[in-house]
Amino acid sequence: MPMKITDILGESTGTRFSLEVFPPKTGVPETIPIQRHLSNIFDTVEHLIKYDPVFVSVTYNPEGKTRTTSIPLAAIIKQKYKVEAVAHLTCISTPKKELSKTLDVIEYFNIENILALRGDLPNDSIEAKGLKHASDLIEEIKKHSKRFCIGVACYPEGHPECVTKDGKKDLKRDLLNFKAKVDKGADFAVTQLFFDNRVFFDFVEKTKKIGVKIPIIPGIMPIMSYNTLNIVKRLGNISMPDSLVKKLEDNRDNKKEIIEIGVNYAVKQCRELMDKVPCIHFYTMDRWASVDRILKELI
Ligand SMILES: Cc1cc2nc3c(=O)[nH]c(=O)nc-3n(C[C@H](O)[C@H](O)[C@H](O)COP(=O)(O)OP(=O)(O)OC[C@H]3O[C@@H](n4cnc5c(N)ncnc54)[C@H](O)[C@@H]3O)c2cc1C
Repeated sequence: MPMKITDILGESTGTRFSLEVFPPKTGVPETIPIQRHLSNIFDTVEHLIKYDPVFVSVTYNPEGKTRTTSIPLAAIIKQKYKVEAVAHLTCISTPKKELSKTLDVIEYFNIENILALRGDLPNDSIEAKGLKHASDLIEEIKKHSKRFCIGVACYPEGHPECVTKDGKKDLKRDLLNFKAKVDKGADFAVTQLFFDNRVFFDFVEKTKKIGVKIPIIPGIMPIMSYNTLNIVKRLGNISMPDSLVKKLEDNRDNKKEIIEIGVNYAVKQCRELMDKVPCIHFYTMDRWASVDRILKELI
């Protein structure tokens, strides 16, 4: 029986968990062979399914490099592990005609939940081709079928592109752009990863003040390597407490210790979020061990 994420959350008591995996790209050299990548994904879900996640979400490459892997993988996870799948979908470079076919496939696989995203802009393009914003994608999905439960992304520290003329963060405008997605019909939201819970709680307060009532699910990425610092820098809108940065710098060459720091930090962050949020979403990076340790501590 397909179920909407909002229905599951509505029936749940206490804080639940969810997972994100990212599928292999096709047609481009991968850092690891596709078979190994797939078995990492299945290992991840297999090890973490015991925590009864609300959903497993599967990312989508905006340049179409996971066009043949994202949705089938979401369908396989749903069928094999009897867990709701959330299919990410990006509007960049997706002509409307193609979008309609993709939505047919999602429906065919009985996937009822979609995370509607614009997608990261390709490096060589300033303007998104195809639909321009996630809000346009929501509109198209709604036109196609009323059956989908639609999630969106939100950014407690602001989206990096939302800046004023003089290059300063325009948090107010970004917040209103988020509200516009809710007004277009978004049913739930998942946040960009963050390391400072105050930023998340402040953001949720601000959304409430402007009338946002949908569940906002915090996204947590356990630090699993020193490279997380580079990922955070690349994302461009995530602050990390100085003490955490220092710990990572001090242990730069000690892979085991970095994982310990990551697990301990995420446990602390999640403990503070528990019972204040409906669900905590883990960016697993297709690796299960850290998330397993974190959930063991929490449950
Ligand atoms: C939980 C989560 C999952 C993600 N999964 C993926 C994935 O699977 N694949 C992927 O490629 N990327 C993914 N991303 C990254 C995301 O695609 C990028 O952050 C992208 O740059 C913005 O996507 P969005 O859906 O938030 O876009 P939008 O909501 O369209 O926002 C993009 C920018 O435009 C502004 N904006 C929004 N609407 C309007 C409007 N109507 N008029 C003017 N400005 C507007 C916003 O303030 C923002 O600055 C994910 C992000 C999160 C938080």
